[in-house]
Amino acid sequence: MKRVRVCVVGAGVIGFSTAVCIAEALPFCSVTLLADEFSPDTTSDGAAGILFAAKFPDIPLERQKHWFKDSFDHLLAIAQSQHSPEAGVMLSSGWQIFKEVPADKKPFWSDYVIGFRFMTEGELKRFPDHKFGQAFTTIKCECSSYLPWLEKRFRKAGGHVEQRKINSLQELSSSYDIIVNCSGLGSRTLVHDNQVYPVRGQVLKVEAPWLQHFIRDGDGKTYIYPGIHSVTVGGTRQEQDWRLQVDDGDTRSILERCGRLEPSLSRARVLSEWVGLRPSRRNPRVERELVQLRGRRVPVVHNYGHGGWGVTLAWGTALDALGLVRQCLDEMRLQAKL
Ligand code: FAD
Repeated sequence: MKRVRVCVVGAGVIGFSTAVCIAEALPFCSVTLLADEFSPDTTSDGAAGILFAAKFPDIPLERQKHWFKDSFDHLLAIAQSQHSPEAGVMLSSGWQIFKEVPADKKPFWSDYVIGFRFMTEGELKRFPDHKFGQAFTTIKCECSSYLPWLEKRFRKAGGHVEQRKINSLQELSSSYDIIVNCSGLGSRTLVHDNQVYPVRGQVLKVEAPWLQHFIRDGDGKTYIYPGIHSVTVGGTRQEQDWRLQVDDGDTRSILERCGRLEPSLSRARVLSEWVGLRPSRRNPRVERELVQLRGRRVPVVHNYGHGGWGVTLAWGTALDALGLVRQCLDEMRLQAKL
C-alpha cells in the first residue's frame, strides 16, 4: 500500500498529542503537522496545565473517564521518569476548597488522581470562608516545555512540521488523504463551527518559591498553582470575550482574591501576565466525517473544543482520534478493494 498522507492542523497540546499518537502508532502513514502558531505562541502555552476536569453534558461518562485516565497515566509515567524536567511535567499536591458543600463531593476523576480524600476540619481552618475541601495529588503539565518535547518526539517518529495558516480545508485536499482538525478556536472559521466560542482567561506568574501546594477555589475562578519555575495565579472566566490584552482591573482582582487564600502572596514578585482564550464548546468534538473538498470525499477527523480542560484531556482524546483515523484507513482499504 502506498504511504497514506495525514495532515494534522494545529500545534497546541491537542494537535501535537494527536500527531504523536498517529505517527508512533501508524508508521506506514506520512504525518505532517501544520499550524500558523507554534509554541510559545499557542493558547496551550499559557495554560496552568493542572489535570482536573468538569463533566461535559452530552458525552457518556465512561468515555470522559477514559479521556481523563488515559491522559493521567500517560503524564504520570513522564512525571516519574528522567524526562520530567525537560517535558515540564510534575506531580502537584494541594486542595480544592468550596464556600458551599458541592452536590458532587466525589467527582468522576477522583479515582484516577492520587490519594483523593475530603479535607479535615483542622485543614479547613486556614480557609475560614470555605466549608468543604478535597485534598489530592494530581499533575501539572507546563506546555511551554511539553510542546517542544512533544515536537521532538513527533519528529523522531518521522513526522514533518510546517508553519502556515490555512483558510479552508480545501487547500489540503489534493496533498493529503486524511485531515485531522485540531485547530481549537480556529475551527470557528476553518470548519464554520459557531458552537466553539472563547472563554477569556487571565493569569499571572509570580515568584514565590515557598509555596508548594496548589489551592483552587471550587468556583474555578481563583487558583494558585506552584510550578517548576514560578507560581501561576489566576484567574478569570469571561465568556465570549475576545480581548487578548492584559486587563489591569483583572490583575488587581486576581492578586486580591489569591491573597485572601494565601496572604504570603503579598510578598511575591510578579514576573509576567498573560491572557488566553479557551476554545470552549458544550462538548468537545471528537468525531469523524467525510467532507466534499474540490470534488473528492476526504475523511476529516475532528478533535477540538476542550475549553478549560485541554491539557487534562489531550492524550485521552488524541487516542480516540487515532482510533478514528484507523477507522478511516479501514474504509479506504475497503473502497480500494471494491
Ligand atoms: P490551541 O493551543 O489554541 O492550538 C490551536 C492550534 O491551531 C494553534 O497552533 C493554531 O495556530 C492552530 N490553528 C488554528 N486555526 C488555524 C488555521 N486556520 N490554520 C493553521 N493553523 C490554525 N487546561 C487544563 O487542562 N488545565 C489547566 O489548568 C488549564 N488552565 C488554563 C488557564 C488559562 C488562563 C487558559 C486560557 C486555558 C487553560 N486551560 C487549561 C485550557 C487549555 O489551555 C486549552 O484547552 C488547550 O490549550 C486547547 O488546546 P488546543 O490545542 O485545542 O488549542
